[in-house]
Amino acid sequence: MDKIRMTTPLVEMDGDEMTRVLWKLIKDELLLPFVDLKTEYFDLGLLERDRTNDQVTIEAAEATKKYGVAVKCATITPNAQRMEEYKLREMWKSPNGTIRGILDGTVFRTPIMLERIKPAVRTWKKPITIARHAYGDVYKGTELRTTEPGTAELIFTGESGKVEKKLVQKMGGPGVLQGMHNLDSSIESFAHSCFKYAIDTKQDLWFSTKDTISKLYDGTFKEIFEKVCEGYKAEFERLGLSYFYTLIDDAVARVIRSEGGFIWACKNYDGDVMSDMVSTAFGSLAMMTSVLVSPDGKYEFEAAHGTVTRHYYRYLKGEKTSTNPVATIFAWTGALKKRGELDRLTELVAFAGKLEDATLDTIREGTMTGDLAALAEGEVRSVTSWEFIAAIAERLKKYLSK
Ligand code: NAP
Ligand code: MG
Repeated sequence: MDKIRMTTPLVEMDGDEMTRVLWKLIKDELLLPFVDLKTEYFDLGLLERDRTNDQVTIEAAEATKKYGVAVKCATITPNAQRMEEYKLREMWKSPNGTIRGILDGTVFRTPIMLERIKPAVRTWKKPITIARHAYGDVYKGTELRTTEPGTAELIFTGESGKVEKKLVQKMGGPGVLQGMHNLDSSIESFAHSCFKYAIDTKQDLWFSTKDTISKLYDGTFKEIFEKVCEGYKAEFERLGLSYFYTLIDDAVARVIRSEGGFIWACKNYDGDVMSDMVSTAFGSLAMMTSVLVSPDGKYEFEAAHGTVTRHYYRYLKGEKTSTNPVATIFAWTGALKKRGELDRLTELVAFAGKLEDATLDTIREGTMTGDLAALAEGEVRSVTSWEFIAAIAERLKKYLSK
């Protein structure tokens, strides 16, 4: 069998721990035998980040800007314990944060649904994608705890020298204060990414804030989305899509009553909370895909989960763990599909589709990793990651020869 051709390389970012083990397994068993895989490889494993003063992360992000499509393995974000464990020279920043900073993107998270794993919400029939704004608000806030009565004010000093001042509160006793901000440019990028992704995936776009209470702050988000929407109106009409704005509390009620099948754009904090709620209600973190889309249309695909440290420590002791590789496989298929679409390689797009079918059909027919076996209805066979991937490979060969 001739291998499937690629013309432009994918940016490949390797990672850490159990997901690094799965990464190699997926490449060896599910990709390299069938695809003439072209990648620009960057090792984002913690030791290589440490050795290169984290330059490798920056280079990988720059390469994503150049080529347009990347696939990333989960990586460790170091903390004090990792400093010790890996004898690091510095507590390097989260690679995802660094990459997001360079690409200025929005993260879209979508659950992979299966008939045998029922969402906690009975009406949900299609996935709900959360688009989380990843800049500012309380994540870049400044806080103050006071110990006596006094006056709290908000002061802005413009570069022109103009000073604006507003009373926050005359405080009758000790209390807490918080200052936060966002930027028009960042909100605009967020809106563009959302409208582009809606067109790309042909789904309606919902957006929610609390502009009845936060008239200026949330009101600005609402206004910018409306302005950006104008530019996409024609394309939305052509595709029969709609843009729908509502208050966050109304949105929550509507989401629960809905069938799913749309994108829900959320401000930073709302997205943080709602994405955990939605992913848990759909079943499993290991079935959640994640893609970073930049406002100029660059894509970085990954799994939403981390490096599954607890499984890795057991693997190091010789255990063949039952770690779920589905979201990582779908990161690869998402990237291969996108590359195929951009380069007009129909065979590559078809291959990615068949790999997804082979993966889900393997689960449908009862072979799955332990996390899913615990959730699935009907007869199941819980297997190791190695057995699961071998079963997918077997099925994939059949699907490719059809
Ligand atoms: P995690 O790796 O997502 O794992 C948390 C737990 O969720 C696991 O112990 C496991 O539960 C379950 N789980 C997650 N993915 C699974 C899978 N594919 N198959 C089966 N079970 C799965 O989160 P964490 O333990 O908090 O973080 C570990 C490391 O990952 C940290 O160093 C963190 O910095 C990093 N991280 C990276 C990313 C990223 O690169 N995008 C995201 C999050 C975290 P059981 O142990 O009960 O089986
Ligand atoms: Mg969260």
